[in-house]
Amino acid sequence: MKKFYVTTAIDYVNAEPHIGHAYQKIIADVLARWYRLKGFEVFYLTGTDEHGQKISESAKNFGLSEKEFVDKMSIKFKEAWKCLNISYDRFIRTTDKDHEIFVQNFIKKIKKDIYKGKYSGLYCVGCERFYTEKDLINGECQFHPGKKLEIFEEETYYFKLSAYRKKLLNLYKKKDFILPIERKNEIVSRVKEGLQDLSITRKNLKWGIAFPFDKGHVVYVWFDALLNYLSGSGKKQKFWPADVHLLGKDNGWFHAVIWPAMLIAANYKLPKTVFIHGFLTFNGQKISKTLGNVISPEYLTKKYGSDSIRYYILRNFVLGEDGDFSEKSLIERHNNELANKFGNLVTRITSLAEKFGIEKTKNNLLKNLKIKEIEKYIKSYSFDKALNEIFSFIDLCNEYIQKNKLWEAKKENKKQIYQVLDSVKAISILLWPFIPETSEKIAKTLKFKIKFENIKKPISIKKVKKSEILFKKFN
Ligand SMILES: [Zn+2]
Repeated sequence: MKKFYVTTAIDYVNAEPHIGHAYQKIIADVLARWYRLKGFEVFYLTGTDEHGQKISESAKNFGLSEKEFVDKMSIKFKEAWKCLNISYDRFIRTTDKDHEIFVQNFIKKIKKDIYKGKYSGLYCVGCERFYTEKDLINGECQFHPGKKLEIFEEETYYFKLSAYRKKLLNLYKKKDFILPIERKNEIVSRVKEGLQDLSITRKNLKWGIAFPFDKGHVVYVWFDALLNYLSGSGKKQKFWPADVHLLGKDNGWFHAVIWPAMLIAANYKLPKTVFIHGFLTFNGQKISKTLGNVISPEYLTKKYGSDSIRYYILRNFVLGEDGDFSEKSLIERHNNELANKFGNLVTRITSLAEKFGIEKTKNNLLKNLKIKEIEKYIKSYSFDKALNEIFSFIDLCNEYIQKNKLWEAKKENKKQIYQVLDSVKAISILLWPFIPETSEKIAKTLKFKIKFENIKKPISIKKVKKSEILFKKFN
């Protein structure tokens, strides 16, 4: 059986889950469901990143131990993904015992590339990483403006990242390794400028995985976190290498530079693609605790329904670019596309089928559904275009009802209604990765199984009952 392995970034648990985190989990969920539909053995890994200085500080602020704090926070992420029907196969926590042991063994494997030294430089606790002066804008890190960097000086162990510059540049020649292309160009030109060795331990921090060669140190949180993709990839790393790592643009450097160097050093296969997506703002504003606009995925799904949130995000944004999550445009798409076009089609055709009955015939409508195009778009992460294509076919089905006046009692009616009903089945199967809850409702009403091969297999239902209203409109 063919395998497909997709990962998301594991979220840092010092803050509550918001729509920016959800964006990435939804993208990964579409891929996971699509390949399941195609009959692949799929593994979808997500989870939480739970070590490091920032967590230690947040826990203190709440008057909790680090462990109590991360236990409490990781549950919030799990609950958020449940609301959005995120179908992950494992939720990994970097405090999981199997992960901690894996990290220590990995470090033993790359011993030849580790040496002891001294670090002095600037550290952004927000990013949990070191910066050099030239990385900064007005003396501040670009992701945490207004936050002072710490001046850092301590004994540390280094990973010989600089030794991998040539191998990395070679790797970047593979066309799909870093996507999209603009992100790739940025990274390639920075690697060409040269690479510095990476400090991979912290001395004066207790909250982390013990460094196997020196008890006085813990493993640097990023080095620990990146390894989740291997430690969490199934028994004996069954699913490794990953087909795609999805991550936000603030994590590009770690995944496209440090991570492959670590893998080469330890003789592991490399992931096929590192896909770097843009950031979302919320109603025109940056999502941040200080602005107080961190709206939980639970709140939004209660208000609009999980399928509408998923649909809006997938239809409205080009994955590589930044976008604005606006409730106004969500409501517009919900009303115009989900309720008026798709929901209406389903209610209308099932009600006609209930009234007039159906008669099995060849579905000539179906040849207008461009399945190959849709598949091509999904494989190239153009989910907006895939949905657009599916909705053109929905339009066509609605027009067919109008043109043939299927609400009038006449002889050909039963056959024509059958064709639209069979097309609704095909549409619902293709929409399942995007709006699973609705697709599953329709599959129940029309009694078919959600499988890729059923798109072209004629529907076998005899008696149809009118469907409930799938999407109520919002004002
Ligand atoms: Zn920062």
